[in-house]
Amino acid sequence: MTNLVETGDTVEVHCSRERSRAAWKIIEEYLTPFVEKEQYHISSRCRLHSDNDLYRDQEQHKIHIDVNEWKCGYCRKSFYEEKYIDKHFDHRHRNLLNVSHGKCLADVCGALHCDLEMGMPQKTKCNPAAAARNKHLCESLADSCFPVSEGPSASRLHELFLRQFCDAHTCTGNRKPFSRGRKKRMNILYVIVSILTVLLLLFFYTFLYLYQRGLKTGTQNLRRVSQSGRKKKPS
Ligand SMILES: [Zn+2]
Repeated sequence: MTNLVETGDTVEVHCSRERSRAAWKIIEEYLTPFVEKEQYHISSRCRLHSDNDLYRDQEQHKIHIDVNEWKCGYCRKSFYEEKYIDKHFDHRHRNLLNVSHGKCLADVCGALHCDLEMGMPQKTKCNPAAAARNKHLCESLADSCFPVSEGPSASRLHELFLRQFCDAHTCTGNRKPFSRGRKKRMNILYVIVSILTVLLLLFFYTFLYLYQRGLKTGTQNLRRVSQSGRKKKPS
């Protein structure tokens, strides 16, 4: 599938940014952690390599400051929504697209289950021809990205890739994609909330301890006062 059409001086890009982004997210979540664990370097011949995503540079220049604030990393312009910064990239920074490689990551979406990631409704009827096509693409990705001839880590990743992405391309059986799991993110917010909870509990129990101790000494004092008061009465 060609994704670049040259019309005179300008180059038209026919590659979905949304689908490329979904594919990248899947790679980051369901493949990269395993590749990093094996300390394996994916070659640029592999279509999943970052150099083969023509939008990668632009996406890396997208600064998400707040829920409603996106900033362009090239010119510092701000936007309320992601779709507007996408449009801005398309119009203003089109020249920065990595078109020399002419690689569209969205083209491997069939193999990587992008529809699932994008929350698209699942087709009720499975198309065997489409499933076979996706499986073939998926297996060719496994072969080109993790050639088994390259040694044990490549072999392990090859095997993982088949289980994680390719097994589910079938109309028979109900194999689910991403069977090998995803990256466990150590969320910074999660860490902060955990520390605060522990501190709060510690504070609460210290307070409870001091309060009870105070109550006990208080009643003892009261008793002492009442006893001395009683003693004084008869005299
Ligand atoms: Zn800009």
